[in-house]
Amino acid sequence: MTATTLNTTKSTEIFTAAQGLMPGGVSSPVRAFKSVGGQPIVFDRVNGAYIWDVDGNKYIDYVGTWGPAICGHAHPDVISALKTTLDNGTSFGAPCAQENLLAEMVISAVPSIEMVRFVNSGTEACMSVLRLMRAFTGRDKIIKFEGCYHGHADMFLVKAGSGVATLGLPDSPGVPKTTTANTLTAPYNDLEAVKKLFEENPEQIAGVILEPVVGNSGFLPPDAGFLEGLRVLTEDNGALLVFDEVMTGFRIAYGGAQAKFNVTPDLTTLGKVIGGGLPVGAYGGRKDIMSMVAPAGPMYQAGTLSGNPLAMTAGIKTLEILNREGQYEYLEKVTSKLIAGLLDVAKETGHAACGGSISGMFGFFFTEGPVHNFDDAKKSDTAKFGKFHRGMLEHGVYLAPSQFEAGFTSLSHTDVEIDKTIDAAKKVMSSLES
Ligand code: PMP
Repeated sequence: MTATTLNTTKSTEIFTAAQGLMPGGVSSPVRAFKSVGGQPIVFDRVNGAYIWDVDGNKYIDYVGTWGPAICGHAHPDVISALKTTLDNGTSFGAPCAQENLLAEMVISAVPSIEMVRFVNSGTEACMSVLRLMRAFTGRDKIIKFEGCYHGHADMFLVKAGSGVATLGLPDSPGVPKTTTANTLTAPYNDLEAVKKLFEENPEQIAGVILEPVVGNSGFLPPDAGFLEGLRVLTEDNGALLVFDEVMTGFRIAYGGAQAKFNVTPDLTTLGKVIGGGLPVGAYGGRKDIMSMVAPAGPMYQAGTLSGNPLAMTAGIKTLEILNREGQYEYLEKVTSKLIAGLLDVAKETGHAACGGSISGMFGFFFTEGPVHNFDDAKKSDTAKFGKFHRGMLEHGVYLAPSQFEAGFTSLSHTDVEIDKTIDAAKKVMSSLES
C-alpha cells in the first residue's frame, strides 16, 4: 500500500479529544473504524455525492449517512422546505398537517401499509413492531435471521451465525437471557430451517421478521422463492410476516423491497430515507393490526418528538423527489455500473470477490462466493477489506468502514463519480496482495 498522503491532522485532534468524552469517541459503534483499522475521519460538510472532512479533504460518499441521503446530500428542495418549516419552530408535541401528508405518501407507496405510526429511529420502529406482533397474535416467540439487524433493542440482540444463536443467548452483556429466550434464529435464505422452527414451536410463533434484502451482513439479496416461501409458511402457521425495510424502504424501489419482489408482508418497518436525513422511523401495516396501537387500541407506544414537523418535511420532500419519473432506473444504472466495474477490477488484479446491487444499494465481498447467508459472508478476507478501505480513502472515496455493511449511491452520483471510483479501485487493488 502506498504511504499515507491524506492530511488528517484536525480529524486526529478532534477524535483524540472525543475518546475522552464519549465511549470509543463516537455516538454509534461502526463509525469508530474498528473493523477496518486506522482512525475515523471527522466530517463537517456534505453536498450531492460528496463529503468533506475537517482538514478539507473531499471524498465521493457511498455511505450516504447510512442510507437516508438517496437524493444526494443537502438537496436544495429538501433544505429549502426545511428552512420554511423551521421558521415556525421545531416541534409541537401535538398533531401537525405534515404527518398526514407523509402518512398518505407512505400508505400509497408501500403495498402492505394501510396505517402508519411515526417514531424517531429504526430501532424504535422494530422494537414497537415486535410488541405489536406479540399483542396481535398473543404469542411470544419470533423468528429472526442470522446477520439481520433490527436495531439495538434487547430482544433482537441475539448472536448471529453460531450454535448459541438458536438457544437465544444474548449478544451483549446487559441483555437478560429471559429477554432473548423467545428470539429464535435461522440462517438467511434457509426456508427449511424456518419450517423446522415452526414445527418445533407449534402455535407459539408470533411472526417472522427479516430484512427482505439484507444490508447488515453486507449486501445479500433473497434467493428466488425465499420471500414467497416465508409468506406461505407464516400464513400456514397463523404467524405474521414483517419486513424490516428501514434500509430498503424507498431505496430498492419506491414501494420498497415488497413492491420489487411482489411479496406483501403483514407489517413493515421504515426509517432512514423517509426522514430525508432527520431522525425518523415508522411502522405500519394491515389496518386490523395497526388498530391495536394506542390510543386506538391497547398496545402502548409513544414518543415526545414523534411526527415532528421538521422530520416530516424532510421526508415529504425526499419522497416527492424520488417519485419523479425515472429515478429508480437511474439509481439502477449508476449502481450496476459501479459494482460491475469493481468486480472487473478485482478480477483483473487477481482478487477473489463477488457482489451485486439492486437500485441504489450495493455490496461486494472479498471472497469467491456465492454468498447466500451470514456464514458465507464471514468467509470474506476482512483484513484485505480494511486495506482496501484505507486505500480508497487515500484516493478520495468514502466507503462504509466494514465488510459487512451495504453501500449506497444517490441521484447525485453520476458517471464522473463512478468512473473515478473504479479508477481508484484499480490503483488500490493493484497494490494489494492477492
Ligand atoms: N433495521 C435495519 C434493517 C437497519 O439497517 C437499521 C440501521 N442500520 C435499523 C433497523 C436500526 O435503525 P436506527 O439506526 O435508525 O435505529
